[in-house]
Amino acid sequence: MDYFPKGEITIYPWDSKMDDWVVKNQGLAPNDFLVQAVQRIVPLGQCPVQKLVFSDVQTILLVSRAMRNNSVYAHQAKCTACGFIHPEDHIRIPDDMEMVGVKNDDFIGHDTFTLPDCKDEVSIRPLTVGDIQRLDQRTEIDNSTVRRESAELLWGIVAVGGGKPDSLEEVDRWYGALSPSDQLYFNLVRRELDPHLSPDIKYSCNKCKAEFSVPVQLDSEFFRQRVRKGPIRQVAQSVDGSD
Ligand SMILES: [Zn+2]
Repeated sequence: MDYFPKGEITIYPWDSKMDDWVVKNQGLAPNDFLVQAVQRIVPLGQCPVQKLVFSDVQTILLVSRAMRNNSVYAHQAKCTACGFIHPEDHIRIPDDMEMVGVKNDDFIGHDTFTLPDCKDEVSIRPLTVGDIQRLDQRTEIDNSTVRRESAELLWGIVAVGGGKPDSLEEVDRWYGALSPSDQLYFNLVRRELDPHLSPDIKYSCNKCKAEFSVPVQLDSEFFRQRVRKGPIRQVAQSVDGSD
């Protein structure tokens, strides 16, 4: 991103003013909530918020929120195979979380990959805040032409087979004609290329040795769900996973 050399960005720690702000703004639509919150957490300078990569917004909020608690998230992993509950574990955010889709300094704005069955070459770019805002502004007529989920899935496609698609409808028809395995591959690669912190912490069970992963419950709904449950005091308490 041109505005932030080497992708470095300053993030302010979440403070009680943010808690107050959350309480006052819980009526906002989820995406509006995230976008307005990030503007309070990061000095954007000359960078319009619309230019931020949307998944970065979620990461920024997560990191800021975690700083409140010395950047530690405590939880007890429960084995999905035998149900064994492990002793409390501390995950450092973001250090202990796997970074997915990391872009190098020479990132040209999109990635290109080839679908295994049809051999089509596809170029996609990460969605920005501006993209998500445009997706949210789609009308019912837009959604009847291309479903909202499909629109979000395919919005970042900048080229197929070396050519720029004329419309989202065209991309939607192209995707619909793909084999199920190509569709699956596309979905997976798209997810992997989107820069984000993987919420999955991998464990191997102390008791039965099964491998399992536990999602860190800090998704975009995290900030809202906690607030709905009660007074602000509980917001701070529930961050570290203890009651
Ligand atoms: Zn187990």
